[in-house]
Amino acid sequence: MSAQGKMSDLLIVGAGIGGLSAAIALGQFKERISIIEQSAQLGEVGAGVQLGPNVTRILKSWGVYQSLDAYVYEPSSLEVHSALSGQLLATLPLGESFRERYGAPYHTVHRADLHAALLECVVRGGYGDIHLNCKLSGLQSTEDGLQVSLEENRKYVQSQNDTSTPESFSKKLYQGVIGADGVWSKVRDIYFDTSKSHTPFGISAVPPPSPGGVTFSGDLAYRSLVMQKMLPPTLRSSSVKVWLGPDMHLVQYPVRGGEWLNSVLILNTSRHSLKPGDRPQDVLSALDWTLNMSQAEKALNIHSIFPQTCSKIQDTLRAIDTWSVWPLMRSNPLKGPMQMARGQVALLGDAAHPMLPYLAQGAGMAIEDAFEMGKQFKLKASTPSQADGHRTQQLFMNYAHKRWLRNASVQKRALMNADIFHAKQFVEWARDRSLKLFGPKLLDMPWLYGYKS
Ligand SMILES: Cc1cc2nc3c(=O)[nH]c(=O)nc-3n(C[C@H](O)[C@H](O)[C@H](O)COP(=O)(O)OP(=O)(O)OC[C@H]3O[C@@H](n4cnc5c(N)ncnc54)[C@H](O)[C@@H]3O)c2cc1C
Repeated sequence: MSAQGKMSDLLIVGAGIGGLSAAIALGQFKERISIIEQSAQLGEVGAGVQLGPNVTRILKSWGVYQSLDAYVYEPSSLEVHSALSGQLLATLPLGESFRERYGAPYHTVHRADLHAALLECVVRGGYGDIHLNCKLSGLQSTEDGLQVSLEENRKYVQSQNDTSTPESFSKKLYQGVIGADGVWSKVRDIYFDTSKSHTPFGISAVPPPSPGGVTFSGDLAYRSLVMQKMLPPTLRSSSVKVWLGPDMHLVQYPVRGGEWLNSVLILNTSRHSLKPGDRPQDVLSALDWTLNMSQAEKALNIHSIFPQTCSKIQDTLRAIDTWSVWPLMRSNPLKGPMQMARGQVALLGDAAHPMLPYLAQGAGMAIEDAFEMGKQFKLKASTPSQADGHRTQQLFMNYAHKRWLRNASVQKRALMNADIFHAKQFVEWARDRSLKLFGPKLLDMPWLYGYKS
């Protein structure tokens, strides 16, 4: 133990869906937790998220549904259409039959509602102190524990009964740090990226395999949310609808108890100035984040796809007038547990395994990660013989061993879906034919939805 300060338990970097889930999972087992978040305010951007039974079952076990129940929506089915002809290719019943098969529901929800329910659960359970406007800029391993530094010149937002200051964070030593800081993870950069020469003190000088390098996938997501009652009745929906077309697809589903319709239009940008493989910083600086309807239509026209799409898609895009654009990043699937845990540092959620949203499971995997981490801490709660730091190191490694393959499988499947969803010509024809013949079998995925840690 250093003279500088008391060894202070766990630090979670990032208060997104993954960071808050980790606080719930670990806080339940009496770990003392601090969470730092770079934003000055907590919240999520306006967009929807689908949650399979593999995820809703965990949220229910944590008590998150106490405040989430009023906001989720249970869609009746998943319908897949051709974006060109509009023809229905396949239907998978969701609703009650899905709930019975998997023992938990398939839900859609506004991200802000999910985030608020997780936050409420953290606060209600007293699972951790959240410190806003704290951006991690450095992470050092010392003989006595981990030390962090925060970006300077930020106006620290103090919460009630909070006596900490930015300086006090750098004086503390942590027995473990969890990087839940998303796709652009600083923790991953410092601790796990082979392109950096940095070798943390006390850690093997051999660098671990890099998480594969996060690059622009070549696809942009245009997201929008509208009240269903503002749309003509023919454009409203009570199910999850997917339209598949060459170099594009559109996903729509209701959120907020069914009152709002979430739309995500995904376009391959082969004719955009951005190119697949571009680095994150190039992508961020090149994009205008908010588009209006005419720009979304223009984006489709650039691809000459808009005139070929069915009238339902054209009417939908014309009826919705504000879209936010989001670059979709990808990385190679994880290759081993060393990419998720190293010494007293673990990665969780997008920080560990950025994935394309073509299986709608990124947030789901962050929540599954958190659940597994909680399970490891619970299992070892009765064996406190080791020093805190060593115990955490062991628990993080067990966590990584349990999670990496599952995450890699989901990453692989999402990458495969990118090719299938956006297929052209013969492959497109074969896909549509298979969906017509074997639809429910292809759409249902017991390995994914039936997973229990
Ligand atoms: C178009 C689209 C549709 C999607 N649909 C679905 C879906 O239907 N189902 C699903 O499960 N997933 C979906 N996802 C994926 C899902 O949104 C992400 O996987 C999920 O939000 C990841 O959560 P996270 O907590 O790991 O990261 P994030 O949500 O990115 O949270 C990271 C947090 O860390 C903070 N942070 C970052 N750096 C620092 C720092 N240095 N210091 C302090 N704080 C920091 C950030 O401000 C942020 O609050 C979709 C994604 C997209 C783009």
